[in-house]
Amino acid sequence: MSCRIAVFGTGYLGATHAACMAELGHEVLGVDVDASKLAKLESGEVPFYEPGLEEVLKQNIEDGRLRFTASYEEAAAFADVHFIGVGTPQKRGEYAADLTYVDAVVETLAPLLDRASVIFGKSTVPVGTAERLGHRARQLAPAGVEIDVAWNPEFLREGYAVRDTLHPDRLVLGVDRDRPGRAEEVARKVYARLLSVNTPFLVTDLATAELVKAAANAFLATKISFINAMAEVCETAGADVSVLADAIGYDARIGRRFLNAGIGFGGGCLPKDIRAFMARAGEIGADEALTFLREVDNINMRRRTRMVELAREAVGGSLLGTSVAVLGAAFKPDSDDVRDSPALSIAGQIQLQGASVNVYDPKAMDNSRAVFPTLNYATSAIEACVNADLVLVLTEWKEFVALDPQALRTAVRRPSIIDGRNCLEAQTWRDAGWTFRALGRV
Ligand code: NAD
Repeated sequence: MSCRIAVFGTGYLGATHAACMAELGHEVLGVDVDASKLAKLESGEVPFYEPGLEEVLKQNIEDGRLRFTASYEEAAAFADVHFIGVGTPQKRGEYAADLTYVDAVVETLAPLLDRASVIFGKSTVPVGTAERLGHRARQLAPAGVEIDVAWNPEFLREGYAVRDTLHPDRLVLGVDRDRPGRAEEVARKVYARLLSVNTPFLVTDLATAELVKAAANAFLATKISFINAMAEVCETAGADVSVLADAIGYDARIGRRFLNAGIGFGGGCLPKDIRAFMARAGEIGADEALTFLREVDNINMRRRTRMVELAREAVGGSLLGTSVAVLGAAFKPDSDDVRDSPALSIAGQIQLQGASVNVYDPKAMDNSRAVFPTLNYATSAIEACVNADLVLVLTEWKEFVALDPQALRTAVRRPSIIDGRNCLEAQTWRDAGWTFRALGRV
């Protein structure tokens, strides 16, 4: 049975969720405060790069199940299931999450709710937020106690967002144990198609659901920083972290995924989420439990510095006056997201040391220009490499993995490359006459 759903915030998470809920057969209204984003979405254009999303968006707009608006009044009149998908960035100058946008949704929406409704939070929030928002929503809403607030954390990965939303590995729903209300029943309706194929569905209390998301991100960040710490040791011991990762990864208890040493994690989630987790743990008196995350963050940031050092060494000790090609700007492949991107941060630092930096990324050029307007931007990988003294591969796009070392050699001034993602075949490049270096390998 179809539900009438409003999704607040139509960014990476919200636009995907709105389109995919329509794909599941529901009637969906996407709500945002950004008029230009809404205009694009209304015309069937995804305002960011996400493989497969445009098709789902267009099809569901065409079928009349998906619309967009800036009007909260329209959303409150239309839907009785509301998802919050707005951003929760890091506060300026602090580790804690900025909840301004999440709070704004509740402050604006709740006074318009005059009938029984369920608000599902999907944004990543500090533990305790859902309970607070539940009280606030019931205080503000004309329907009062008929308003339920539940938390339904999102685990989608950019680059696989459609697949992850339509075929999630699990669904988690935190409900208020003191007043369970209709949240679980409504979630079962919304996700009926996913539940019919036995997607694991964990119903928890609010705090556990909020912590599941924080814990998942903390674990992933730790796994990446673990292998990057091993890379540091390998660099000084003259060992090879890629082989080490393969060897330990065969142990099923460890697993090979997320053990790729390189310039570390970035993006709009992991860095700010582990910091917000530490900040919240401090507030609730559990800070000791998460002090290790500070080291996880430190290891991660050190990799960026190490990459800049390696680049400096590779050009003979000073970057001043050199030309450096940077291949990749997005924080990971198959995304145009440059929020806290290690690649762009390294490109910026290298430029500050006096190099002329030419960046190319298959999808993230516009976003990169907006953040770092002073870097040079090329229209292809080859163009970025013309007359380069050094080539850096900083995002593991397939296009860069497939680069032909022979062809690229004719473009550069000096055939010297550093693989910041351990994604290239070292021997192939060396055989083609390149000086090849990588993080964590000799
Ligand atoms: P985003 O910045 O891409 O999107 C946020 C959107 O909210 C923007 O379009 C913004 O205009 C809109 N917005 C701001 N205030 C609003 C308001 N008052 N009413 C309506 N819309 C408003 O962010 P995102 O990457 O989609 O992340 C959103 C949340 O989801 C964050 O908490 C994030 O941690 C979480 N999350 C993101 C991902 C991901 O892969 N991007 C995955 C899991 C969880």
